[in-house]
This record gives sequence, C-alpha cells and structure tokens, in this order.
Amino acid sequence: MAEECIFCKIGRRKIPGDLIYSDDQAFVIRDISPKAPIHLLVLPFEHVTYLESFTQDREALLGHMMLVAREMARREGLTESGYRLVINQGSDSGQEVPHLHLHVLGGRDLGSMG
Ligand code: 5GP
Ligand code: ZN
Repeated sequence: MAEECIFCKIGRRKIPGDLIYSDDQAFVIRDISPKAPIHLLVLPFEHVTYLESFTQDREALLGHMMLVAREMARREGLTESGYRLVINQGSDSGQEVPHLHLHVLGGRDLGSMG
C-alpha cells in the first residue's frame, strides 16, 4: 500500500492544505506553526523519509527542491535579506513528520547557528 502520511495527503489534496506552489515533482506549503515570519516547506510528492533512502538517481529531485526553495525565497522577497534552508533528519534533529522536506525560513534575523 502506498504511504499516506500527512504531507502525502496534503500533496494529493486529500486533506486541506494551501499549496502555494506545485509542479510535477514538488510542492510548497506554509508551515502550520511558523518559526519565522516566512516559514515554507518544500516537499517532493514522492514519499521519502530520509536522505539515506535516496539512491543516486534521485539526485535531480534533491537539486530541484533547492531550486524551488530559491524561487520561493525570491517570491517572498527574501533574496536580499537572506534566509535559511533546513532539512531535519532523525530523532536528534527533532524531525516530526517522516516525509522529507526542506524548511525555508526568513523575514527576521535568524541568529547564528554557532
Ligand atoms: P520537522 O520537524 O519534521 O522537520 O518539521 C515538520 C514541520 O511541519 C513542523 O515545523 C510543523 O509545524 C509542520 N507541520 C506539521 N503538520 C503540519 C500540517 O498539517 N500542515 C502544515 N502546513 N505544516 C505542518
Ligand atoms: Zn508522505
């Protein structure tokens, strides 16, 4: 049976979720609990939990997600001020949803990671 996590359901429009961008490979939603004034999630339609699960032939999808993130940052006016891209992986990162996603955070000084 195909995976049906919450992000799969949003991507397949089985439950409400505002897709602010979509193409044949990926879609973008606003985070339901934003950690910054702009907080977007870039997701592949394909259900994958971990980067570890990606085989070499999925390299193009990962690159595509980065370019979608860049385009969304442009649309949200973050290009000049800057933004942060985050992918949480596994328990130490606090990953909540087991469907790989790229966070796009911006709109305030995010502080250093150090
Ligand atoms: P993670 O911790 O897995 O990297 O991030 C999961 C993110 O998804 C969290 O920032 C959380 O607020 C967000 N999230 C969880 N459930 C939903 C949902 O149903 N809709 C949206 N738009 N975001 C969600
Ligand atoms: Zn999923």
